[in-house]
Amino acid sequence: MTGCYVRCVTPFTRELLSWFSANRRTLPWREARTPYRVWVSEAMLQQTQVATVIPYFTRWLTRFPTLEALAAAPLADVLKAWEGLGYYRRARLLHEGAKRVAAQHGGVLPTRYDELVKLPGVGPYTAAAVASLSFGEPVLAVDGNVKRVAARLFCLPGEVKVRDANARLTPYLPETEAGAFNEALMELGATVCTPRSPRCEVCPVSPHCGAYRAGQVARFPEPKMRKRVPRLHRFALVCKKDGALWLRERSQSEMLGGLWGFVLSETEPVGVKLEPVRHAYTHLKITATPVVVGAPPEVGAWVKVSELDALPLSRLDYKILEQVREMAVDKLA
Ligand code: SF4
Repeated sequence: MTGCYVRCVTPFTRELLSWFSANRRTLPWREARTPYRVWVSEAMLQQTQVATVIPYFTRWLTRFPTLEALAAAPLADVLKAWEGLGYYRRARLLHEGAKRVAAQHGGVLPTRYDELVKLPGVGPYTAAAVASLSFGEPVLAVDGNVKRVAARLFCLPGEVKVRDANARLTPYLPETEAGAFNEALMELGATVCTPRSPRCEVCPVSPHCGAYRAGQVARFPEPKMRKRVPRLHRFALVCKKDGALWLRERSQSEMLGGLWGFVLSETEPVGVKLEPVRHAYTHLKITATPVVVGAPPEVGAWVKVSELDALPLSRLDYKILEQVREMAVDKLA
């Protein structure tokens, strides 16, 4: 694809926008659009499928309908509403960001990219998405989908960086419809130019696509060097008394900070071992062997099993809990 280096509406831009206008999916965050709804949806959609996010988004908006409501909520409630969505850091930062906006901006999100990007949890992608979708600022929002589309459109070699995609696509960004252009590119990546089976035969921009024209779609994007994911082995200390379990609220600086869970130990305690449970995060894989111990560890609190539903727990802790229940450890409930 060749570029128009003056910001103008190119045939590529026109065809992409026209396809998007006819094919955009109906999604809850596209209805009654507000900057807050865009922000929440973009935070949730990072690393997460649309279908997974939809029920979370809907429940979130019922629980925290406004930025002020989110800012005023306790962190435990915020994490509970996020429970199961993973990458809890996003929820903590969204909460921190809402508190910052409430305290320093009168509860109103800034309108400019340069201001948005200073908020906790708002990186260049989210700032560009909110600025363009909510306020029409002509900035490109580059996520994984857009990087993949750019790699194919421009036959970009190696690992595609945000700056590469930005440099190549910005000349096509229309001054007045930046939000629709960003959404259209993301939608193209999510529904047509997909990672494994791109549907070039129905692609609205195939005449402009370098990889397609060269018959090299399968070559792009070129594979990344895979990093080795560290594996941890921990012992989950299971201590029970009168239908209660000994759990600990993890500190903000730890992995899964703010969530409650079993105390994890690097050293093997004395007790009855249950079947290990495994959980994979993007940055590490963990195997936790639950061990039923006689006395509670130093830090933590008794939590009635009947009250567990009110606390935010990680997937790993739910898996341990399931294991503990399966072994009918002293009929917990
Ligand atoms: S023609 Fe194929 S590879 Fe090129 S942008 Fe469209 S779907 Fe992607």
